Amino acid sequence: MRETNSDFDVIVIGAGYGGFDAAKHAAENDLKVAIVESREMGGTCVNRGCVPSKALLAASGKVRELADAEHLSGFGIHSAPVRFERQKIADHARNLVENIRNNLTKTLERSGVTILRGQGRLEGRQRVGIREANGIDRILTAENVILATGSDPFVPPGIEIDGRTVFTSDEAINLEWLPRWIAIIGSGYIGLEFADVYTALGCEVTMIEALERVMPTFDPDITKLAARHLIDGRDIDARSGVLASKVAPGCPVKITLSDFNSREFVEDLEVDAVLVATGRVPSSKELNLESVGVETNRGFVPIDDNMRVLSNGKPVPNLWAVGDLTGKLMLAHTAAAQGCVAIDNILGNQRKIDYRSIPAATFTHPEISSVGLSELEAKELSSNEGFELGNVRSYFKANSKALAELEGDGLMKLLFRMDTGEVLGAHIYGLHAADLIQEVANAISRRQTVVDLACEVHTHPTLSEVVEVAYKQAAHKLQKALQGK
Ligand SMILES: Cc1cc2nc3c(=O)[nH]c(=O)nc-3n(C[C@H](O)[C@H](O)[C@H](O)COP(=O)(O)OP(=O)(O)OC[C@H]3O[C@@H](n4cnc5c(N)ncnc54)[C@H](O)[C@@H]3O)c2cc1C
Repeated sequence: MRETNSDFDVIVIGAGYGGFDAAKHAAENDLKVAIVESREMGGTCVNRGCVPSKALLAASGKVRELADAEHLSGFGIHSAPVRFERQKIADHARNLVENIRNNLTKTLERSGVTILRGQGRLEGRQRVGIREANGIDRILTAENVILATGSDPFVPPGIEIDGRTVFTSDEAINLEWLPRWIAIIGSGYIGLEFADVYTALGCEVTMIEALERVMPTFDPDITKLAARHLIDGRDIDARSGVLASKVAPGCPVKITLSDFNSREFVEDLEVDAVLVATGRVPSSKELNLESVGVETNRGFVPIDDNMRVLSNGKPVPNLWAVGDLTGKLMLAHTAAAQGCVAIDNILGNQRKIDYRSIPAATFTHPEISSVGLSELEAKELSSNEGFELGNVRSYFKANSKALAELEGDGLMKLLFRMDTGEVLGAHIYGLHAADLIQEVANAISRRQTVVDLACEVHTHPTLSEVVEVAYKQAAHKLQKALQGK
Protein backbone atom coordinates (compact mmCIF):
# COMPACT_ATOMS: atom_id res chain seq x y z
CA MET A 1 0.00 0.00 0.00
CA ARG A 2 1.38 3.44 -0.96
CA GLU A 3 1.77 5.91 1.86
CA THR A 4 2.95 8.96 0.00
CA ASN A 5 1.59 12.21 -1.39
CA SER A 6 3.75 12.04 -4.52
CA ASP A 7 2.18 11.46 -7.94
CA PHE A 8 4.36 8.37 -8.44
CA ASP A 9 6.67 6.12 -6.46
CA VAL A 10 9.15 6.23 -9.35
CA ILE A 11 9.48 8.42 -12.42
CA VAL A 12 12.01 7.21 -14.99
CA ILE A 13 13.26 9.72 -17.57
CA GLY A 14 14.18 7.90 -20.80
CA ALA A 15 12.67 4.70 -22.19
CA GLY A 16 15.79 2.99 -23.53
CA TYR A 17 16.95 -0.39 -22.26
CA GLY A 18 17.96 1.04 -18.86
CA GLY A 19 14.70 2.93 -18.33
CA PHE A 20 12.62 0.04 -19.63
CA ASP A 21 14.08 -2.55 -17.26
CA ALA A 22 13.88 -0.16 -14.30
CA ALA A 23 10.22 0.71 -14.99
CA LYS A 24 9.19 -2.90 -15.60
CA HIS A 25 10.98 -4.20 -12.51
CA ALA A 26 9.46 -1.43 -10.38
CA ALA A 27 5.92 -2.08 -11.65
CA GLU A 28 6.32 -5.83 -11.08
CA ASN A 29 7.14 -4.97 -7.48
CA ASP A 30 3.91 -2.99 -7.09
CA LEU A 31 5.43 0.47 -7.31
CA LYS A 32 3.46 3.20 -9.08
CA VAL A 33 5.68 4.06 -12.04
CA ALA A 34 5.76 6.55 -14.90
CA ILE A 35 8.29 6.59 -17.75
CA VAL A 36 8.95 9.75 -19.78
CA GLU A 37 10.17 9.47 -23.39
CA SER A 38 10.77 12.27 -25.89
CA ARG A 39 11.45 10.11 -28.97
CA GLU A 40 10.61 6.50 -29.89
CA MET A 41 10.07 3.97 -27.10
CA GLY A 42 13.05 1.63 -26.78
CA GLY A 43 15.84 4.20 -27.09
CA THR A 44 19.08 3.71 -28.96
CA CYS A 45 19.31 -0.08 -28.68
CA VAL A 46 15.93 -0.82 -30.19
CA ASN A 47 15.68 2.02 -32.72
CA ARG A 48 19.21 3.01 -33.72
CA GLY A 49 21.61 0.49 -32.16
CA CYS A 50 21.76 -3.19 -31.27
CA VAL A 51 18.53 -4.30 -32.95
CA PRO A 52 18.78 -2.78 -36.45
CA SER A 53 22.56 -3.24 -36.63
CA LYS A 54 22.25 -6.94 -35.77
CA ALA A 55 19.51 -7.33 -38.39
CA LEU A 56 21.82 -5.79 -41.01
CA LEU A 57 24.70 -7.99 -39.83
CA ALA A 58 22.52 -11.10 -40.03
CA ALA A 59 21.45 -10.38 -43.61
CA SER A 60 24.82 -9.16 -44.88
CA GLY A 61 26.51 -12.08 -43.10
CA LYS A 62 24.44 -14.49 -45.19
CA VAL A 63 25.47 -12.63 -48.35
CA ARG A 64 29.12 -12.89 -47.27
CA GLU A 65 28.80 -16.61 -46.61
CA LEU A 66 27.09 -17.37 -49.93
CA ALA A 67 29.56 -15.22 -51.85
CA ASP A 68 32.61 -16.87 -50.28
CA ALA A 69 33.25 -19.36 -53.08
CA GLU A 70 36.57 -20.52 -51.60
CA HIS A 71 35.00 -21.35 -48.23
CA LEU A 72 32.01 -23.10 -49.80
CA SER A 73 34.21 -25.13 -52.17
CA GLY A 74 35.85 -26.61 -49.06
CA PHE A 75 32.51 -28.36 -48.47
CA GLY A 76 32.19 -29.22 -52.17
CA ILE A 77 29.49 -26.59 -52.62
CA HIS A 78 29.41 -24.34 -55.67
CA SER A 79 26.79 -21.62 -55.45
CA ALA A 80 25.50 -19.34 -58.15
CA PRO A 81 26.50 -15.66 -57.93
CA VAL A 82 24.64 -14.13 -55.00
CA ARG A 83 22.05 -11.43 -55.61
CA PHE A 84 20.54 -9.32 -52.86
CA GLU A 85 18.03 -6.48 -52.60
CA ARG A 86 19.35 -3.62 -50.49
CA GLN A 87 15.86 -2.29 -49.80
CA LYS A 88 14.67 -5.67 -48.50
CA ILE A 89 17.67 -5.93 -46.19
CA ALA A 90 16.86 -2.42 -44.91
CA ASP A 91 13.18 -3.44 -44.53
CA HIS A 92 14.19 -6.49 -42.50
CA ALA A 93 15.97 -4.19 -40.01
CA ARG A 94 13.09 -1.67 -39.95
CA ASN A 95 10.44 -4.37 -39.42
CA LEU A 96 12.42 -5.92 -36.60
CA VAL A 97 12.76 -2.52 -34.91
CA GLU A 98 9.00 -1.92 -35.14
CA ASN A 99 8.23 -5.38 -33.85
CA ILE A 100 10.53 -5.13 -30.84
CA ARG A 101 9.47 -1.53 -30.09
CA ASN A 102 5.79 -2.54 -30.06
CA ASN A 103 6.44 -5.56 -27.85
CA LEU A 104 8.43 -3.46 -25.41
CA THR A 105 5.75 -0.76 -25.24
CA LYS A 106 3.00 -3.36 -24.71
CA THR A 107 5.06 -5.04 -21.99
CA LEU A 108 5.30 -1.76 -20.09
CA GLU A 109 1.60 -1.02 -20.52
CA ARG A 110 0.66 -4.52 -19.36
CA SER A 111 2.88 -4.11 -16.30
CA GLY A 112 0.90 -0.98 -15.39
CA VAL A 113 3.59 1.59 -16.20
CA THR A 114 2.25 5.05 -17.16
CA ILE A 115 3.92 6.17 -20.39
CA LEU A 116 4.32 9.95 -20.65
CA ARG A 117 5.41 11.44 -23.98
CA GLY A 118 7.62 14.54 -23.77
CA GLN A 119 10.97 15.97 -22.75
CA GLY A 120 11.73 15.28 -19.08
CA ARG A 121 13.91 17.33 -16.72
CA LEU A 122 14.51 17.74 -13.01
CA GLU A 123 12.84 20.60 -11.18
CA GLY A 124 14.61 20.17 -7.87
CA ARG A 125 14.40 17.15 -5.57
CA GLN A 126 11.64 14.62 -6.29
CA ARG A 127 10.16 16.86 -8.99
CA VAL A 128 10.13 16.17 -12.73
CA GLY A 129 9.13 18.70 -15.39
CA ILE A 130 7.70 17.34 -18.64
CA ARG A 131 7.34 19.39 -21.81
CA GLU A 132 5.05 17.72 -24.30
CA ALA A 133 5.46 18.16 -28.08
CA ASN A 134 2.40 20.49 -28.10
CA GLY A 135 4.16 22.87 -25.68
CA ILE A 136 2.20 21.89 -22.55
CA ASP A 137 4.52 21.82 -19.57
CA ARG A 138 3.70 20.19 -16.28
CA ILE A 139 5.44 19.15 -13.11
CA LEU A 140 4.97 15.80 -11.40
CA THR A 141 6.33 14.59 -8.08
CA ALA A 142 7.90 11.23 -7.32
CA GLU A 143 9.42 9.55 -4.30
CA ASN A 144 12.32 8.49 -6.53
CA VAL A 145 13.56 9.71 -9.89
CA ILE A 146 15.71 7.59 -12.22
CA LEU A 147 17.66 9.30 -14.98
CA ALA A 148 18.07 7.03 -18.02
CA THR A 149 18.51 9.42 -20.93
CA GLY A 150 21.28 7.47 -22.64
CA SER A 151 23.68 8.83 -25.21
CA ASP A 152 24.02 10.25 -28.72
CA PRO A 153 26.73 9.85 -31.37
CA PHE A 154 29.82 12.01 -30.83
CA VAL A 155 30.85 14.03 -33.85
CA PRO A 156 34.37 15.51 -33.56
CA PRO A 157 34.94 19.15 -34.48
CA GLY A 158 35.65 19.75 -38.19
CA ILE A 159 33.20 17.06 -39.32
CA GLU A 160 29.96 18.26 -40.87
CA ILE A 161 27.05 15.82 -40.88
CA ASP A 162 24.41 16.08 -43.63
CA GLY A 163 22.72 12.75 -42.85
CA ARG A 164 23.06 11.59 -46.46
CA THR A 165 26.72 11.54 -47.50
CA VAL A 166 28.25 12.11 -44.06
CA PHE A 167 26.35 10.35 -41.30
CA THR A 168 26.52 8.55 -37.98
CA SER A 169 25.17 5.12 -36.99
CA ASP A 170 21.79 6.83 -36.42
CA GLU A 171 21.40 7.08 -40.22
CA ALA A 172 23.61 4.13 -41.26
CA ILE A 173 21.13 1.67 -39.75
CA ASN A 174 18.58 2.75 -42.42
CA LEU A 175 20.89 1.43 -45.19
CA GLU A 176 19.40 4.00 -47.57
CA TRP A 177 22.10 3.46 -50.19
CA LEU A 178 25.31 1.54 -50.73
CA PRO A 179 28.21 3.87 -51.44
CA ARG A 180 30.84 2.42 -53.77
CA TRP A 181 33.55 3.76 -51.46
CA ILE A 182 32.89 4.64 -47.85
CA ALA A 183 35.27 5.95 -45.21
CA ILE A 184 34.53 4.82 -41.67
CA ILE A 185 36.02 7.07 -39.02
CA GLY A 186 36.70 5.03 -35.88
CA SER A 187 37.61 1.36 -35.44
CA GLY A 188 35.68 0.60 -32.28
CA TYR A 189 32.89 -1.97 -32.27
CA ILE A 190 30.40 0.21 -34.18
CA GLY A 191 32.93 1.02 -36.95
CA LEU A 192 33.92 -2.65 -37.20
CA GLU A 193 30.33 -3.91 -37.37
CA PHE A 194 29.42 -1.47 -40.14
CA ALA A 195 32.65 -2.31 -42.02
CA ASP A 196 31.47 -5.94 -41.86
CA VAL A 197 28.06 -4.99 -43.31
CA TYR A 198 29.41 -2.70 -46.05
CA THR A 199 32.17 -5.03 -47.27
CA ALA A 200 29.76 -7.99 -47.37
CA LEU A 201 27.49 -5.90 -49.59
CA GLY A 202 30.32 -5.01 -51.99
CA CYS A 203 31.45 -1.56 -50.77
CA GLU A 204 35.09 -0.54 -50.51
CA VAL A 205 36.00 0.78 -47.07
CA THR A 206 38.72 3.10 -45.82
CA MET A 207 38.97 2.87 -42.05
CA ILE A 208 40.43 5.91 -40.31
CA GLU A 209 41.68 5.51 -36.75
CA ALA A 210 43.23 8.40 -34.80
CA LEU A 211 45.08 6.21 -32.30
CA GLU A 212 48.32 4.37 -32.98
CA ARG A 213 46.69 1.05 -33.91
CA VAL A 214 43.34 0.01 -35.36
CA MET A 215 40.92 -1.58 -32.89
CA PRO A 216 42.63 0.22 -29.99
CA THR A 217 40.06 -0.87 -27.40
CA PHE A 218 40.53 -4.60 -28.03
CA ASP A 219 43.11 -7.02 -26.59
CA PRO A 220 46.30 -6.63 -28.71
CA ASP A 221 46.71 -10.40 -29.40
CA ILE A 222 43.06 -10.80 -30.32
CA THR A 223 43.38 -7.69 -32.52
CA LYS A 224 46.36 -9.17 -34.40
CA LEU A 225 44.35 -12.21 -35.44
CA ALA A 226 41.00 -10.46 -35.86
CA ALA A 227 42.43 -7.59 -37.94
CA ARG A 228 44.08 -10.10 -40.28
CA HIS A 229 40.64 -11.48 -41.17
CA LEU A 230 38.21 -8.64 -40.53
CA ILE A 231 40.33 -5.86 -42.05
CA ASP A 232 43.35 -7.09 -44.07
CA GLY A 233 41.41 -9.99 -45.61
CA ARG A 234 38.68 -7.67 -46.91
CA ASP A 235 38.26 -4.67 -49.15
CA ILE A 236 39.40 -2.38 -46.34
CA ASP A 237 42.26 0.09 -46.36
CA ALA A 238 42.99 0.83 -42.70
CA ARG A 239 44.92 3.94 -41.63
CA SER A 240 45.93 4.48 -38.03
CA GLY A 241 47.52 7.48 -36.31
CA VAL A 242 45.58 9.83 -38.60
CA LEU A 243 42.82 12.22 -37.76
CA ALA A 244 39.97 13.13 -40.10
CA SER A 245 40.41 16.81 -39.23
CA LYS A 246 37.93 18.09 -41.81
CA VAL A 247 35.05 16.32 -43.51
CA ALA A 248 32.83 18.23 -45.97
CA PRO A 249 29.68 16.48 -47.19
CA GLY A 250 28.80 16.43 -50.88
CA CYS A 251 29.47 14.48 -54.00
CA PRO A 252 32.26 13.51 -53.48
CA VAL A 253 32.78 13.86 -49.73
CA LYS A 254 36.10 15.60 -49.07
CA ILE A 255 38.22 14.44 -46.14
CA THR A 256 41.39 16.07 -44.87
CA LEU A 257 43.65 13.70 -42.95
CA SER A 258 46.18 15.05 -40.43
CA ASP A 259 48.80 13.32 -38.34
CA PHE A 260 47.22 12.59 -34.96
CA ASN A 261 50.25 13.68 -32.94
CA SER A 262 51.71 16.59 -34.92
CA ARG A 263 48.40 17.67 -36.53
CA GLU A 264 50.37 18.13 -39.77
CA PHE A 265 48.57 17.65 -43.07
CA VAL A 266 48.83 14.07 -44.39
CA GLU A 267 46.48 13.71 -47.34
CA ASP A 268 43.15 14.69 -48.91
CA LEU A 269 40.68 11.91 -49.73
CA GLU A 270 37.56 11.96 -51.86
CA VAL A 271 35.00 9.25 -51.14
CA ASP A 272 31.30 8.62 -51.78
CA ALA A 273 30.26 8.59 -48.14
CA VAL A 274 31.58 8.86 -44.59
CA LEU A 275 30.32 7.06 -41.49
CA VAL A 276 31.40 8.80 -38.29
CA ALA A 277 31.77 6.15 -35.56
CA THR A 278 33.89 8.03 -33.02
CA GLY A 279 32.09 7.15 -29.81
CA ARG A 280 29.08 8.48 -27.96
CA VAL A 281 28.32 11.36 -25.64
CA PRO A 282 25.86 11.33 -22.72
CA SER A 283 22.47 13.02 -23.16
CA SER A 284 22.51 15.07 -19.97
CA LYS A 285 22.38 18.69 -21.14
CA GLU A 286 18.60 19.06 -20.95
CA LEU A 287 18.21 17.39 -17.55
CA ASN A 288 18.58 20.55 -15.44
CA LEU A 289 20.96 18.77 -13.09
CA GLU A 290 21.89 22.14 -11.58
CA SER A 291 18.49 22.14 -9.85
CA VAL A 292 19.76 19.31 -7.62
CA GLY A 293 23.38 20.50 -7.45
CA VAL A 294 24.84 17.67 -9.53
CA GLU A 295 27.96 18.32 -11.60
CA THR A 296 28.67 15.97 -14.47
CA ASN A 297 31.97 14.48 -15.53
CA ARG A 298 32.21 15.50 -19.24
CA GLY A 299 28.43 15.13 -19.34
CA PHE A 300 28.34 11.72 -17.59
CA VAL A 301 26.30 11.60 -14.39
CA PRO A 302 28.40 10.34 -11.46
CA ILE A 303 26.93 7.36 -9.58
CA ASP A 304 27.95 4.86 -6.93
CA ASP A 305 27.63 1.07 -7.35
CA ASN A 306 24.04 1.25 -6.03
CA MET A 307 23.15 3.66 -8.90
CA ARG A 308 22.69 6.62 -6.56
CA VAL A 309 23.57 9.93 -8.21
CA LEU A 310 26.50 11.63 -6.48
CA SER A 311 27.03 15.30 -5.75
CA ASN A 312 30.53 16.12 -4.46
CA GLY A 313 30.98 12.38 -3.85
CA LYS A 314 27.84 12.09 -1.68
CA PRO A 315 24.55 10.45 -2.73
CA VAL A 316 21.71 12.81 -3.65
CA PRO A 317 18.63 11.43 -1.84
CA ASN A 318 15.98 9.80 -4.05
CA LEU A 319 17.92 10.36 -7.29
CA TRP A 320 19.31 7.50 -9.39
CA ALA A 321 20.94 7.17 -12.81
CA VAL A 322 21.49 4.20 -15.10
CA GLY A 323 22.73 3.30 -18.57
CA ASP A 324 24.93 5.13 -21.07
CA LEU A 325 24.31 8.39 -19.20
CA THR A 326 26.59 7.06 -16.44
CA GLY A 327 29.42 6.12 -18.85
CA LYS A 328 30.01 2.64 -17.39
CA LEU A 329 30.45 -0.10 -20.01
CA MET A 330 28.03 1.59 -22.41
CA LEU A 331 26.04 -1.47 -23.47
CA ALA A 332 22.36 -2.36 -23.46
CA HIS A 333 22.67 -5.19 -20.93
CA THR A 334 24.67 -2.95 -18.58
CA ALA A 335 21.88 -0.36 -18.72
CA ALA A 336 19.24 -3.02 -18.06
CA ALA A 337 21.21 -4.51 -15.15
CA GLN A 338 21.75 -1.06 -13.64
CA GLY A 339 18.01 -0.35 -13.97
CA CYS A 340 17.15 -3.44 -11.91
CA VAL A 341 19.84 -2.67 -9.32
CA ALA A 342 18.43 0.87 -8.86
CA ILE A 343 14.92 -0.49 -8.26
CA ASP A 344 16.13 -3.18 -5.85
CA ASN A 345 17.82 -0.47 -3.81
CA ILE A 346 14.68 1.69 -3.92
CA LEU A 347 12.78 -1.34 -2.61
CA GLY A 348 15.26 -1.52 0.26
CA ASN A 349 17.12 -4.60 -0.98
CA GLN A 350 20.72 -3.39 -0.93
CA ARG A 351 22.35 -4.43 -4.20
CA LYS A 352 25.50 -3.44 -6.05
CA ILE A 353 26.49 -4.04 -9.64
CA ASP A 354 29.49 -6.19 -10.59
CA TYR A 355 30.94 -4.52 -13.69
CA ARG A 356 33.76 -7.09 -13.92
CA SER A 357 31.33 -9.83 -14.92
CA ILE A 358 29.59 -7.85 -17.69
CA PRO A 359 30.58 -9.21 -21.11
CA ALA A 360 30.94 -7.22 -24.34
CA ALA A 361 30.67 -8.43 -27.92
CA THR A 362 31.30 -7.21 -31.44
CA PHE A 363 29.05 -8.99 -33.92
CA THR A 364 31.41 -9.13 -36.89
CA HIS A 365 31.88 -12.36 -38.87
CA PRO A 366 33.50 -13.98 -36.92
CA GLU A 367 32.70 -12.29 -33.60
CA ILE A 368 34.90 -10.75 -30.92
CA SER A 369 34.05 -10.79 -27.22
CA SER A 370 35.53 -10.08 -23.83
CA VAL A 371 34.73 -10.01 -20.15
CA GLY A 372 36.54 -8.89 -17.03
CA LEU A 373 39.98 -7.34 -16.95
CA SER A 374 42.18 -6.53 -19.93
CA GLU A 375 45.66 -8.02 -19.76
CA LEU A 376 47.06 -4.59 -18.82
CA GLU A 377 44.54 -4.18 -15.98
CA ALA A 378 45.20 -7.74 -14.79
CA LYS A 379 48.97 -7.08 -14.77
CA GLU A 380 48.41 -3.92 -12.71
CA LEU A 381 46.25 -5.85 -10.26
CA SER A 382 48.84 -8.62 -9.99
CA SER A 383 51.63 -6.17 -9.18
CA ASN A 384 49.45 -4.21 -6.72
CA GLU A 385 48.24 -7.33 -4.92
CA GLY A 386 51.47 -9.33 -5.32
CA PHE A 387 50.20 -12.43 -7.13
CA GLU A 388 51.43 -14.01 -10.35
CA LEU A 389 49.16 -13.59 -13.37
CA GLY A 390 48.17 -16.74 -15.25
CA ASN A 391 47.54 -16.50 -18.99
CA VAL A 392 46.59 -19.38 -21.32
CA ARG A 393 45.41 -19.58 -24.91
CA SER A 394 42.97 -21.98 -26.50
CA TYR A 395 42.76 -22.21 -30.30
CA PHE A 396 39.72 -22.82 -32.50
CA LYS A 397 41.91 -24.80 -34.91
CA ALA A 398 42.05 -27.55 -32.25
CA ASN A 399 38.24 -27.65 -31.90
CA SER A 400 36.30 -30.31 -33.83
CA LYS A 401 33.16 -28.23 -34.29
CA ALA A 402 35.09 -25.20 -35.58
CA LEU A 403 36.97 -27.46 -38.00
CA ALA A 404 33.73 -29.10 -39.18
CA GLU A 405 32.48 -25.59 -40.00
CA LEU A 406 35.83 -24.77 -41.69
CA GLU A 407 36.15 -21.92 -39.19
CA GLY A 408 39.41 -22.77 -37.48
CA ASP A 409 40.62 -19.16 -37.17
CA GLY A 410 40.00 -18.18 -33.60
CA LEU A 411 41.63 -17.68 -30.26
CA MET A 412 40.60 -17.47 -26.64
CA LYS A 413 42.86 -15.89 -24.04
CA LEU A 414 42.11 -16.59 -20.40
CA LEU A 415 43.54 -14.52 -17.53
CA PHE A 416 43.52 -15.89 -13.99
CA ARG A 417 45.21 -15.61 -10.61
CA MET A 418 48.04 -18.09 -10.10
CA ASP A 419 47.49 -18.03 -6.31
CA THR A 420 43.76 -18.69 -6.00
CA GLY A 421 42.91 -19.71 -9.57
CA GLU A 422 40.16 -17.05 -9.80
CA VAL A 423 39.24 -16.11 -13.35
CA LEU A 424 40.01 -12.43 -14.02
CA GLY A 425 39.18 -11.99 -17.68
CA ALA A 426 38.75 -13.57 -21.10
CA HIS A 427 39.09 -12.35 -24.66
CA ILE A 428 37.81 -14.33 -27.63
CA TYR A 429 37.91 -14.00 -31.41
CA GLY A 430 36.20 -16.68 -33.46
CA LEU A 431 32.91 -18.24 -34.53
CA HIS A 432 30.13 -17.42 -32.01
CA ALA A 433 32.53 -15.67 -29.63
CA ALA A 434 29.59 -13.56 -28.39
CA ASP A 435 27.84 -16.68 -27.11
CA LEU A 436 30.98 -18.34 -25.78
CA ILE A 437 31.90 -15.44 -23.51
CA GLN A 438 28.76 -15.83 -21.37
CA GLU A 439 30.08 -18.95 -19.66
CA VAL A 440 33.21 -17.06 -18.55
CA ALA A 441 31.09 -14.06 -17.49
CA ASN A 442 29.07 -16.36 -15.23
CA ALA A 443 32.27 -17.84 -13.77
CA ILE A 444 33.63 -14.36 -13.04
CA SER A 445 30.32 -13.34 -11.49
CA ARG A 446 30.59 -16.32 -9.11
CA ARG A 447 34.33 -15.70 -8.60
CA GLN A 448 34.98 -19.32 -9.58
CA THR A 449 38.44 -20.83 -9.87
CA VAL A 450 39.91 -22.54 -12.91
CA VAL A 451 40.38 -25.70 -10.81
CA ASP A 452 36.61 -26.02 -10.26
CA LEU A 453 35.77 -24.92 -13.78
CA ALA A 454 38.12 -27.49 -15.32
CA CYS A 455 35.89 -30.24 -13.88
CA GLU A 456 32.77 -29.01 -15.69
CA VAL A 457 31.81 -31.25 -18.61
CA HIS A 458 31.14 -29.62 -21.97
CA THR A 459 29.07 -31.04 -24.83
CA HIS A 460 31.08 -32.63 -27.63
CA PRO A 461 31.49 -31.46 -30.32
CA THR A 462 30.73 -27.83 -29.54
CA LEU A 463 32.62 -24.57 -29.63
CA SER A 464 32.22 -24.43 -25.84
CA GLU A 465 35.08 -26.92 -25.68
CA VAL A 466 37.38 -24.00 -26.61
CA VAL A 467 36.52 -22.61 -23.16
CA GLU A 468 36.86 -26.04 -21.54
CA VAL A 469 40.37 -26.43 -22.99
CA ALA A 470 41.34 -22.99 -21.64
CA TYR A 471 40.07 -23.89 -18.13
CA LYS A 472 41.92 -27.23 -18.21
CA GLN A 473 45.18 -25.65 -19.36
CA ALA A 474 44.85 -23.00 -16.65
CA ALA A 475 44.15 -25.58 -13.92
CA HIS A 476 47.11 -27.68 -15.11
CA LYS A 477 49.41 -24.66 -15.04
CA LEU A 478 48.24 -23.79 -11.55
CA GLN A 479 48.71 -27.34 -10.23
CA LYS A 480 52.20 -27.56 -11.80
CA ALA A 481 53.14 -24.26 -10.16
CA LEU A 482 51.86 -25.49 -6.77
CA GLN A 483 53.77 -28.78 -7.12
CA GLY A 484 56.93 -26.79 -7.89
CA LYS A 485 56.67 -24.87 -4.62
C1 LIG B 1 25.01 1.15 -33.79
C2 LIG B 1 24.96 0.67 -32.37
C3 LIG B 1 25.00 -0.68 -32.11
C4 LIG B 1 24.93 -1.14 -30.80
N1 LIG B 1 24.98 -2.47 -30.57
C5 LIG B 1 24.92 -2.95 -29.31
C6 LIG B 1 24.92 -4.34 -29.06
O1 LIG B 1 24.99 -5.16 -29.98
N2 LIG B 1 24.83 -4.75 -27.77
C7 LIG B 1 24.75 -3.88 -26.73
O2 LIG B 1 24.69 -4.31 -25.57
N3 LIG B 1 24.75 -2.55 -26.93
C8 LIG B 1 24.82 -2.05 -28.21
N4 LIG B 1 24.78 -0.71 -28.42
C9 LIG B 1 24.75 0.20 -27.25
C10 LIG B 1 23.33 0.32 -26.70
O3 LIG B 1 22.47 0.73 -27.72
C11 LIG B 1 23.30 1.31 -25.55
O4 LIG B 1 24.27 0.95 -24.60
C12 LIG B 1 21.94 1.31 -24.86
O5 LIG B 1 20.95 1.69 -25.78
C13 LIG B 1 21.94 2.26 -23.67
O6 LIG B 1 20.67 2.25 -23.10
P1 LIG B 1 20.15 3.49 -22.23
O7 LIG B 1 18.85 3.07 -21.68
O8 LIG B 1 21.21 3.94 -21.31
O9 LIG B 1 19.98 4.70 -23.26
P2 LIG B 1 19.25 4.86 -24.65
O10 LIG B 1 18.98 3.57 -25.29
O11 LIG B 1 20.06 5.85 -25.41
O12 LIG B 1 17.84 5.47 -24.26
C14 LIG B 1 17.69 6.72 -23.71
C15 LIG B 1 16.31 7.23 -24.05
O13 LIG B 1 16.10 8.44 -23.35
C16 LIG B 1 15.40 9.35 -24.18
N5 LIG B 1 15.65 10.70 -23.68
C17 LIG B 1 16.82 11.40 -23.70
N6 LIG B 1 16.66 12.57 -23.07
C18 LIG B 1 15.36 12.62 -22.67
C19 LIG B 1 14.60 13.56 -21.93
N7 LIG B 1 15.15 14.69 -21.48
N8 LIG B 1 13.31 13.29 -21.70
C20 LIG B 1 12.73 12.14 -22.14
N9 LIG B 1 13.41 11.20 -22.81
C21 LIG B 1 14.72 11.43 -23.06
C22 LIG B 1 16.00 9.08 -25.55
O14 LIG B 1 15.11 9.53 -26.56
C23 LIG B 1 16.15 7.57 -25.53
O15 LIG B 1 14.98 6.95 -26.01
C24 LIG B 1 24.82 -0.22 -29.73
C25 LIG B 1 24.76 1.16 -29.99
C26 LIG B 1 24.84 1.60 -31.28
C27 LIG B 1 24.77 3.08 -31.55
